[in-house]
Amino acid sequence: MAEFAGKVALVTGGSRGIGAAIVKRLARGGADVALTYVSAADKGRSVIADVEAAGRRGMAIAADTADPAAIVGAVERTVAELGRLDILVNNAGVAIMAPIEAVTLADLDKTLGIHVRGVFLASQAAARHMGAGGRIISIGSCLADRVPGPGIALYSMSKSALVGLTKGLARDLGPRGITANLIQPGPIDTDMNPANGAGAELQRSMLALGHYGNTDDIAATVAHLAGEGGRFITGATITIDGGFTA
Ligand code: NDP
Repeated sequence: MAEFAGKVALVTGGSRGIGAAIVKRLARGGADVALTYVSAADKGRSVIADVEAAGRRGMAIAADTADPAAIVGAVERTVAELGRLDILVNNAGVAIMAPIEAVTLADLDKTLGIHVRGVFLASQAAARHMGAGGRIISIGSCLADRVPGPGIALYSMSKSALVGLTKGLARDLGPRGITANLIQPGPIDTDMNPANGAGAELQRSMLALGHYGNTDDIAATVAHLAGEGGRFITGATITIDGGFTA
């Protein structure tokens, strides 16, 4: 039997990049998968077409993670239309990077709204629907552990919050058989951080492996945590960064 047969997943920010790879990996494993996006409706539809090509049900939901009603609504719609919720992947993210003197209140609110408040609210809403075997997996960043230069304080602060949230979720939900874990990627080749972008050479110089990771490297660990192999892993932070923080 497929590893995720009978399971339903919701992946925030699943229209592109790491999120899209996670959606496809879970669908290949037999899950029905909903994704959210904020603006790329066409890309969201194309990822869902891949889900359906794998023989699974899928749904693309326009939902800004920074909007409390929208993110909670996305959880509720997933349960209403796909019947249940077993796996939540909090992946949606933005990279607003600027020297501390230049960060605006709008930058602060947007980053915390997506990376912290939205993750908290999605996890809270999802937990209300999950049974034993439920999985909450959040995508943080290795920049929570190492800030290698200026301009990263806001991003790093927001991703650091997920370490505490994940441990707290593990404690609150462990008695119900639900796990919560955090994945901290290093440089992964996506629109957010292209391997041929302006800062790529500098990042490569900090990597023990000397090259960027790809989105499937993250999706593979999400699948491990979401599957049977993850049943005794909770409250953990797993770094997948090619040695960026080594
Ligand atoms: P991309 O920019 O390639 O994709 C971002 C995804 O998030 C898109 O699907 C986008 O939707 C969605 N999104 C953005 N803002 C919102 C929002 N407000 N509400 C809902 N969805 C939103 O990013 P990556 O795939 O690179 O990043 C995914 C996660 O991994 C992020 O949390 C990021 O911080 C983290 N990460 C990435 C690293 C990297 O090197 N790439 C390294 C470490 C962590 P739409 O298509 O509609 O815009």
